[in-house]
Amino acid sequence: MPSATPKTGQRSLVLLLLVVLGGGFLATSLASYYAALESIRSNIVNTELPLTSDNVYSEIQKDLVRPVLISSMMARDTFVRDWVMNGEQDIEQMTRYLREVQEHYGAVTSFFVSEKTHTYYQAKGVLKQVKQGEPRDTWYFRVRDMQAPYEINVDVDMANQDRLTFFINYKVFDYQQRFIGATGVGLTVDAVVQLIDDYQARYQRSVYFVDSAGRIALTGATGGPLGARVGQSLGDVPGLEDLEAKLPQPQSGHFEYRERGRAHFLNVRFIPELDWYLFVDKQENGAVAGIRRSLYLNLLICLLVTALVLVLVSASLRRYQKRIAALATTDSLTELPNRRGFDLLANQAIQEARRNQSPLCALLLDLDHFKQLNDSHGHLAGDTVLRGFARQLGDNLRQSDIICRWGGEEFILLLKDTPPEQARLLAEKILQQTEQNRFDHNGTQLSITTSIGLAELHPDDALDQLIARADRALYRAKQTGRNRLCEDTAT
Ligand code: GH3
Ligand code: MG
Ligand code: MG
Repeated sequence: MPSATPKTGQRSLVLLLLVVLGGGFLATSLASYYAALESIRSNIVNTELPLTSDNVYSEIQKDLVRPVLISSMMARDTFVRDWVMNGEQDIEQMTRYLREVQEHYGAVTSFFVSEKTHTYYQAKGVLKQVKQGEPRDTWYFRVRDMQAPYEINVDVDMANQDRLTFFINYKVFDYQQRFIGATGVGLTVDAVVQLIDDYQARYQRSVYFVDSAGRIALTGATGGPLGARVGQSLGDVPGLEDLEAKLPQPQSGHFEYRERGRAHFLNVRFIPELDWYLFVDKQENGAVAGIRRSLYLNLLICLLVTALVLVLVSASLRRYQKRIAALATTDSLTELPNRRGFDLLANQAIQEARRNQSPLCALLLDLDHFKQLNDSHGHLAGDTVLRGFARQLGDNLRQSDIICRWGGEEFILLLKDTPPEQARLLAEKILQQTEQNRFDHNGTQLSITTSIGLAELHPDDALDQLIARADRALYRAKQTGRNRLCEDTAT
């Protein structure tokens, strides 16, 4: 089918545009989305989380330095050493000393444990005797045996309703460098908890400490990640199974894991002073929601632009196709249908006439001695006459009649639903009008006559046969003197 090709072409052009535009837009949107995602990820992993970790760590260090100094001073204090070496006589002297230190420096507790008597002194008096094998006292025997002069230990404070406390445990030596006990202060972890709460509230991230066995050691006031409590193992917190799988033992570094479908970024830092790991954890969702929204907006805009472009292109294609089709079936000089346009309409008319058994006549017209007119007045004058003659023909037609510029100065009329007598009347009228008409060309009045062949559609006629018979009649009109109508006589 001749009309299928342009339509198919149009469809594949629109499809190609859709693929190119849609694909291009999609690719750039996704590329910028992933670039933004990567920059956010890199910012979180390389800047935000390490910075929080650094801040928390340096705050802890700051909080620990002062008590370490105080404890060091206590360990070197000649009163403490002399008092021990003099046989721990007056307990009140030692407790007063410890009370002074505790109150003056704002510690939670201060203590001295004697190696000789294993007595645990603190500000309120003698607390207990430390015993080897007693779990709560293992710290003392560890301190006694360690190489370093002191340790920082996080433990419950027995003298303070077992509150979680940082203890600075300093070794005490006599003047001959013999170990005579351990002293130091304890301070609350409240300041660190406050710090964790601050960071969690301000930056929507989880900050907590995990001990080397993977148990949560310290959290903010409201608890740890996903409501985890101190003492819980990471793997026991519902939702943190992926993290547990990734870090069966805590280890320093950057990690990414998923918790119930949400991506998490995690920075883990080992804090040697505490033998703990500091976990700073940020959920991706909050950070990424913004750029995901802009991706959706981008995609929506791209979709609209693509749809708009496709609609505009389709509309223009349709318009141009119509114009091209019209140009292809119209004669440019007379603006009448040309043969191509005529064929479509004429074949339809013949089928209709056959179906309805209605009469149909063809008039074939050829201008007389047109060559002469061209020769004597010029080709442009000939054109003027052709245009004028075409207009004159058109004026005589009904809506249903079909007209065509058949060739140079030949025209054809198909008269639907018209018996020969009526066609004859029209032909006579045309002959008369043509003879009388003057066609003005640059002031010169040109006249012309035409010869006409008439044929009626026979039941078995195809278009060609009808026209051939009209042509024969026209030939006879020329032969018999021109400016006349001849009818096809064949039956
Ligand atoms: P007749 O039909 O009466 O036998 O004589 P004729 O001179 O008309 O004969 P013929 O059909 O041989 O000549 C037709 C002429 O029409 C020749 C050609 O140059 C001229 N012609 C065809 N098309 C055009 C056109 O578009 N413009 C002009 N000016 N002349 C045309
Ligand atoms: Mg001719
Ligand atoms: Mg002619």
